[in-house]
Amino acid sequence: MAATVSDNLLDWYDAHARELPWRAKPGTPSPEPYRVWLSEVMLQQTTVAAVKPYFEAFLARWPNVEALASAPEEDVMAAWAGLGYYSRARNLVKCARAVAELGHFPETESDLRRLPGLGAYTAAAIAAIAFEKRAVVVDANVERVVARLFAIEEPLPAARKAIRIAADAITPDMRAGDFAQAMMDLGATICTARDPRCLLCPLSNACKARAEGDPGRLPVKAPKKAKPLRQGQTYWMENDGAVWLVRRPGTGILGGMRALPDDGWNARSSGSMQAPSPGIWESAGVVRHTFTHFSLELTVLTSLGASQPDGQGEWWPIDSLDEAGLPTLFAKAARLAQSG
Ligand code: SF4
Repeated sequence: MAATVSDNLLDWYDAHARELPWRAKPGTPSPEPYRVWLSEVMLQQTTVAAVKPYFEAFLARWPNVEALASAPEEDVMAAWAGLGYYSRARNLVKCARAVAELGHFPETESDLRRLPGLGAYTAAAIAAIAFEKRAVVVDANVERVVARLFAIEEPLPAARKAIRIAADAITPDMRAGDFAQAMMDLGATICTARDPRCLLCPLSNACKARAEGDPGRLPVKAPKKAKPLRQGQTYWMENDGAVWLVRRPGTGILGGMRALPDDGWNARSSGSMQAPSPGIWESAGVVRHTFTHFSLELTVLTSLGASQPDGQGEWWPIDSLDEAGLPTLFAKAARLAQSG
């Protein structure tokens, strides 16, 4: 089965590979590791459509890993704004600096794993796609395809071990990078979460879930725990065409990002509801946002003619707020404050 699966999948990929800015065409020399690494870090928890403009902007500004390594961290954080999961941007800079110091990207999974912030998935993807090393690359798309192909009934996340073993069994020794990308493409375009298009699938003859009927029910997912709800306030302090912005502490949620001041809410507790300075505050509404471990209801309070609060921050011209690199949560809060 293994050879048939990989041969059929690679034939399908040769004809149907998605064209993506970080990709090389099937069967052509591998793309530069910098492009593979940058795209894979950006693609974690984010869609291809969302990543494309960021990838192109990053490449235009920092065309190689050395350029990114010498960029100030705050510039990279600001360019990342809107992509979410901001610890990835901080790790991106750390990793670029480590690679620049080494003088090249390591080629094996185990050496790649030693780079700061580089997890098992990303290491496997770079080893396979950039260096043609045989590696078992399992992202959420691949997880879904493999769970269906082998009719793995165990719920996720416990099923990950079985999925990995099964994925290993069908991974070929040659064209490892193309195989990994073919699996990703199959999951993204044919073996989709809700409505698998089995009639178009190159693996349909080998697929156990299809033979059993109703493949869309796999993979089974363990019920999610309800996320705790936290409440907080954020403050739009406007004075003479400018708004007061702060830089968030380096660690913690949205760490190191430029933001509106807030009342100290975090994953474990709601905020203090203490404004940064006395004044007349008006509510502009509530922004709702879901983080990995909690949901947040953030009330946006505005004050016009506000005086400068204690502590570090800067008056930022409202006309060029787009250039401040606010993360999505605070960009939404800013839009709400300005709509009043
Ligand atoms: S046959 Fe259907 S369920 Fe099986 S891998 Fe292909 S698209 Fe997915």
